[in-house]
Amino acid sequence: MICEVIVDIAHSEVDRIFDYACDIPVAAGARVVVPFGRSTATGFVMRVKETSDCPADKLKKIYRAEEGTPAINKECLSLARTIARRYRVPLALALRLFLPPEMRTGKVAETYRTFARFVQDVPVKNAPQQATCLTYLKEHGETDAARLRERFGAAVNALEKKGAVCLERRRVLRDPYKGVEGSAAGHVLTAAQQRAVCAVESTEKTVTLLHGVTGSGKTEVYLTLIADALAVGRTALFLVPEISLTPQMLSQLRARFGAAAAILHSGLSAGERFDEWQRLREGSARIAIGARSAVFAPVENVGVIVLDEEHDGSYSSETAPRYNTFDIALLRAKYNGCKLVLGSATPAVETYKRALDGEFSLVRMPDRINARPLPDVTIVDMRREVRRGNPSPFSAALRERLAATLAEGQQAILFLNRRGYSQTVLCRDCGYVAKCEQCDVSLTYHSEENCLKCHYCGARYKMLTACPSCGGTHIYYAGTGTQRVAGELKKLYPSARILRMDNDTTGGKEGHYRILKQFADRQADILVGTQMVAKGHDFPLVTLVGILDADMSLHFPDYRSNERTFQLITQVAGRSGRGSEKGDVILQTYDPDNAILRFAAAYDYEGFYRHEINLRAATMFPPFALIVRVMVSSSDNAAALEALREVYEKLQSLYLSAQEEFLFFNRMHAPIRRIQGRFRYQVLMRLVSDKLLERIYDAASGVKSRDALVWVEENPSNLN
Ligand code: ADP
Ligand code: ZN
Repeated sequence: MICEVIVDIAHSEVDRIFDYACDIPVAAGARVVVPFGRSTATGFVMRVKETSDCPADKLKKIYRAEEGTPAINKECLSLARTIARRYRVPLALALRLFLPPEMRTGKVAETYRTFARFVQDVPVKNAPQQATCLTYLKEHGETDAARLRERFGAAVNALEKKGAVCLERRRVLRDPYKGVEGSAAGHVLTAAQQRAVCAVESTEKTVTLLHGVTGSGKTEVYLTLIADALAVGRTALFLVPEISLTPQMLSQLRARFGAAAAILHSGLSAGERFDEWQRLREGSARIAIGARSAVFAPVENVGVIVLDEEHDGSYSSETAPRYNTFDIALLRAKYNGCKLVLGSATPAVETYKRALDGEFSLVRMPDRINARPLPDVTIVDMRREVRRGNPSPFSAALRERLAATLAEGQQAILFLNRRGYSQTVLCRDCGYVAKCEQCDVSLTYHSEENCLKCHYCGARYKMLTACPSCGGTHIYYAGTGTQRVAGELKKLYPSARILRMDNDTTGGKEGHYRILKQFADRQADILVGTQMVAKGHDFPLVTLVGILDADMSLHFPDYRSNERTFQLITQVAGRSGRGSEKGDVILQTYDPDNAILRFAAAYDYEGFYRHEINLRAATMFPPFALIVRVMVSSSDNAAALEALREVYEKLQSLYLSAQEEFLFFNRMHAPIRRIQGRFRYQVLMRLVSDKLLERIYDAASGVKSRDALVWVEENPSNLN
């Protein structure tokens, strides 16, 4: 038997099939250990065949298989091939997507423990330890042998020898969410939910967009679809933007599906992740839940795929291969002949257009559960606050509502875009701005640690006492961050219990869970946070949401900034008034007449969409054009420039041969010129179609530089 093997080395020079002879039983998808060059390597069996073109005496032999069951199933194997071709990455890199990372490095394995069980009574005269040990086992049932030995020492083994106790070594699974309790089982579906489930299951179209306002009960629709898939013996993929932010979702899934649900996300320990993956591969778990990488879960016979909050930016990968989760999910849906459901209160403009154009089926859920009203949004003009002599981050209207909320014993969420204490630290004498030495970005002051932090690389710097440039001592903190807001709140409402949720307070696997649980358990009155507080939380006691800097995201230099702002405001506002009391939202802005903010305040998605789609059409931006960015980066500026020159030349000849395809074509510094010490350049293109995409990938992958990285981004969600 001959195996075609890809060695697990992500380098273009070894990115090809090698034939190996094989006299052990292996199947396609198996991980094997093979001789490679002068050493050994792990590889993937891509195909098994009878003959090889390579002469028999030259063929090397596979040493062994890593696992009994092939690690990668048939569908995933073909998916890996497609991904490698589509995104021009070595096949080894595409295959790695399908394994928990620790499995490759051999750092995790299955865990085993020994258990002791009572078998029969035997004479234990003169051996009191043995007698009590036996009694203990009879009373407590099966017990961990190690624990039993701690208590009864050698008696355990003696009893085993006598045949009174049986010791059994068994595989045990690490449970990532032992502490997460299941909440009540499913609701009886409302008529709207029932209609949605039927619509998804009966449409001929593969993709359905479920456009439901916040609180319309989309989750219950997903869970019903998943239960229906399971009921006919199939499996499910349930993708959410950030699983660690949605512990409520986890408990719901636990309660409903128990051990059939497996959770995959980066916050788990290596062992937990491996075990969850293993349960899916073996089929003992049949629902994979997780962030974007869960789309690669090793399930077979998929019956439904759900992409919750489909508009979320985290669904596009920012490392190679730069895939879009939707594209992968669609491939899997087609392969399995199952439905793909996209859910959102604020669909991406591109998605909504495809639904209106008839490519996707469209289902609307325009009302909240039990006809609960959406919260009223009040727009507050912050320019007027400044004129009135109020320099604080809180408007008078917000302070008034906050006081009332606290007095009524309800909860509030305050949202702002920035973490830390202040955005920039600058010298009032000379205008010097403190910047990171490795990245071309300004530093943020963090008062708790009294240091400056770079939010791109995490580097810390000592706080400035004098300006390094002019020696002046008038150091000024401009802008406001979460930490500062929490501090000012404390001064205004000394008895209020305040929680902060941002990247600085949510360390560790259960960081988010801890904070959210505290808030849910009413151990705090106000939750201050960044984007994280906007995600799908359901806190029935929250009746006030304050959006402190609604403009922030409007002014990002990105064609999606209108869309992002609309989505963010809708999401945050949706946290208010989910219980029995009606909610309010205070939206603070320096641009109160802005059309996007107005649409958001009125929950007018259709209005927003028409405004935005016309703008995109007029200015020729996606979905009417394709933005492609070829990035070059290197720690050596000269090497970066050399690679840039090389790729630019190739792209330029493409441009000159087909100028009608280009709306824009130029090379330049990336907006952030340096990140983590790497110099960054880009060739930015806007194209009328994807006709030239393949050739752009060709040009980029044709640059063979030792020191520079070159990659392609399609409609990047982050134009740093
Ligand atoms: P969405 O995801 O659309 O924002 P959720 O799924 O979070 O909305 O549902 C909003 C609230 O309504 C939740 O508290 C949920 O428990 C509740 N809910 C959902 N479906 C039903 C139902 N059929 N009957 C009663 N309550 C429901
Ligand atoms: Zn930095």
